[in-house]
Amino acid sequence: MAYKIDNNLCVGCCACIGSCPESAIEQKNDKCVINSSKCVSCGICETNCPVSAIFIE
Ligand code: SF4
Ligand code: SF4
Repeated sequence: MAYKIDNNLCVGCCACIGSCPESAIEQKNDKCVINSSKCVSCGICETNCPVSAIFIE
């Protein structure tokens, strides 16, 4: 189980970056991506994404 960002839904607002306590999210090509090696699956970013682009699988 890992949190991921749906590239097709992400609008690049970067709200998730500031919400992540582990600094596990980076901006890349106007979208954001989660660094799975830093992510601790707390789910805070999912709550803060305004377009529900973050999901767990
Ligand atoms: S908060 Fe959501 S829409 Fe905004 S950059 Fe992060 S994943 Fe993309
Ligand atoms: S689940 Fe938590 S640790 Fe992982 S990217 Fe989101 S806010 Fe950061």
